[in-house]
Amino acid sequence: MSKKTKKRFIAGAKCPECGAMDTLMLYFENNVEKLACVKCDYAETQTNDEVKAANKSNANVIGVFKPE
Ligand SMILES: [Zn+2]
Repeated sequence: MSKKTKKRFIAGAKCPECGAMDTLMLYFENNVEKLACVKCDYAETQTNDEVKAANKSNANVIGVFKPE
């Protein structure tokens, strides 16, 4: 099974992590819309607010690495 992901950049979008412009790309993975920055490791799942909120609260659990 080919795992083709359609990625598209969001024009004018600013990465909340590194602050770079036009580096955010939107793509689908397992029918979930995801947002990722190509410059840094920023990634976010863009679905609905409920999942977004859950994703945010999970970030502390999943994000084991600490930027120091
Ligand atoms: Zn970034």
